[in-house]
Amino acid sequence: MIGIYGGTFDPVHFGHLRTALEVQEIFGLDEMRLIPCFMPPHRDEPQVAAYRRVEMLGLAIEGYPGLRVDSREIDRGGPSYMVDTLQSIRQECGDRALFLVIGADAFEKLGNWHRWRQLFVFAHVAVMTRPGFARPQLDHFFQQRLAASAAGLGQTPAGLLWFQPVTALAISATAIRGIIADNRNPGFLLPESVIEYIRKNNLYQRSKC
Ligand code: ATP
Repeated sequence: MIGIYGGTFDPVHFGHLRTALEVQEIFGLDEMRLIPCFMPPHRDEPQVAAYRRVEMLGLAIEGYPGLRVDSREIDRGGPSYMVDTLQSIRQECGDRALFLVIGADAFEKLGNWHRWRQLFVFAHVAVMTRPGFARPQLDHFFQQRLAASAAGLGQTPAGLLWFQPVTALAISATAIRGIIADNRNPGFLLPESVIEYIRKNNLYQRSKC
């Protein structure tokens, strides 16, 4: 079983990393792939170059063999549509179960994703929720895909929907970029190795002009 966790990771932080690890353990995934996007279709361009975001991810997951960085969206170039990414992973991994991991915020806007119904052709969709999350009313498309149990997800390669509570860490990359631009210390929000990399390369500084 393979987990797929996409994002801009601009920069990666403990909110992403804790979720990735918890989901990997809860579902007993062989690996959890963190997939930085090249060109996000629904938001502003990332602030730092793709190779920098890949390098920060590499530093962040050191010592966690179950987490992997997969740079296929960057290698592919163009708009980073998740459905294309899932299709290419599916072509490589035969009929192993694939889990696309998305936040509850992303799930609310899933209907805007490119060819979104086809996501379920290639993978299960696991929506990460916070304690107290009230599941939205699901339409027929989602209702009929709702898995009866977490265990059921491993028994088919794709096609099911699951809501998974995870530890809530109220951290965002936007806030971290703001803290760095204000010359404050982002300590305890992301790994020290990533903070060191950001400092060394003067990333996320406020422009001087
Ligand atoms: P930004 O603040 O720049 O929008 P972000 O912190 O939300 O960035 P992204 O790289 O855009 O991070 O998010 C990638 C994925 O990580 C999304 O599915 C998002 O829901 C999830 N995510 C973001 N922050 C957290 C968090 N604190 N805890 C759990 N998941 C998170």
